[in-house]
Amino acid sequence: MSDAITDLIHHPYQPPEGFVAPQPGVFKASTVIFPNAAAMRSRDWKSKAGYTYGLHGTPTTFVLEERIAALEGGLQTVLVPSGLAAIANVALALLKTGDEVLIPDNAYGPNKALAEGELAAFGIAHQYYDPMDVADLAARITPKTKLVWLEAAGSVTMEMPDLIAQTRLCRERGVVSALDNTWGAGLAFNAFNLDGQGLAVDVSAHALTKYPSGGGDVLMGAVTTRDDALHLKIKHTHMRLGLGVGANDAEAVLRALPSIALRYRAQDQAARALARWCQSQPAFAQVLHPALSGSPGHTHWQALCGAADERGGGAAAGLFSVVVDDRYTSDQVDAFCDALRLFKLGYSWGGPVSLVVPYDLASMRANGWPAQLARGTVVRFSTGLEAAEDLQADLAQAVSVALQG
Ligand SMILES: *Cc1c(COP(=O)(O)O)cnc(C)c1O
Repeated sequence: MSDAITDLIHHPYQPPEGFVAPQPGVFKASTVIFPNAAAMRSRDWKSKAGYTYGLHGTPTTFVLEERIAALEGGLQTVLVPSGLAAIANVALALLKTGDEVLIPDNAYGPNKALAEGELAAFGIAHQYYDPMDVADLAARITPKTKLVWLEAAGSVTMEMPDLIAQTRLCRERGVVSALDNTWGAGLAFNAFNLDGQGLAVDVSAHALTKYPSGGGDVLMGAVTTRDDALHLKIKHTHMRLGLGVGANDAEAVLRALPSIALRYRAQDQAARALARWCQSQPAFAQVLHPALSGSPGHTHWQALCGAADERGGGAAAGLFSVVVDDRYTSDQVDAFCDALRLFKLGYSWGGPVSLVVPYDLASMRANGWPAQLARGTVVRFSTGLEAAEDLQADLAQAVSVALQG
């Protein structure tokens, strides 16, 4: 009996090599087995020429890293357990006590929370800059500034900054720029060639949870670079913090990646159609979608994403927000959200189900109510893959239930 169980574990059968199928295989490991002690001792955990330990990579995670790097126009990618972990990995790799990080005031909220929590506790300062005023960013860069976060479009309020000018400024001032590239997803613009002349951010952090996963069922993030030294810094912190991802999750993203451009385009088209319809509704004081003329940063969106090219130019994510006129109470806005049937109340985006979230913007902005935004309650919509006319009918019935008069 003991022989049989040992044989089960140390069975000599090896499947033949050369299996080829449309999807990469799922390799699961904490332990990786070495052929001998010398190989164990000489293996470099940072090198993709071999395998050391599950945390440092498997065939499955290496394949996904290479594909995300290709999607984003980068050269190196590390995978982390969430988009927020990507942000944290970048911050903790590049900042130390006495440094300062600059974050746009409309950034993804938990990025700001990280700065106010752990980074502040470590003696790392932060400032929030106006994403729509490059001069404001320029004025805040000092010798202490070691990292500038960029986000295009901004979370929730969808302002498109002048990303090209912001990135150029960081280059001129010698400060590392890190873009939260979740909205563009590597499809709306190329973070590593913003102007067609090679202007690049230094780091791209991407919540694969959103478009690359596409299912609303995976949490994952990626940090992509085009510089070996910068990548190595990020990789060291990644290792010390133990930010590995599971092979089944990596497989789910690998399986969804081939359809990312189709999904991105479909959700973009639906979101634009719905945003235009919302512009006709008197209850909404403002519709925020960078591809709509008059929306904050529309001309920057045109410069960055508006030209047709093979990377899906003219594209935008399937997100938009409305500012519900301030004659409506927040209870009425809640009732509007509750009345929606296809748009579900839930965080995140990029999956098949359309989602809605009401936000109290005043509590989210450090530097006061932004000049470019009407007063009222902000509601953000993300379009799923339902038929756009059904989504429009859903919005219309909820407006008539909750936002009349
Ligand atoms: C969702 C999101 C993140 C974080 O991703 P998680 O995987 O949910 O942690 C970061 N940045 C932006 C812009 C996001 O929308």
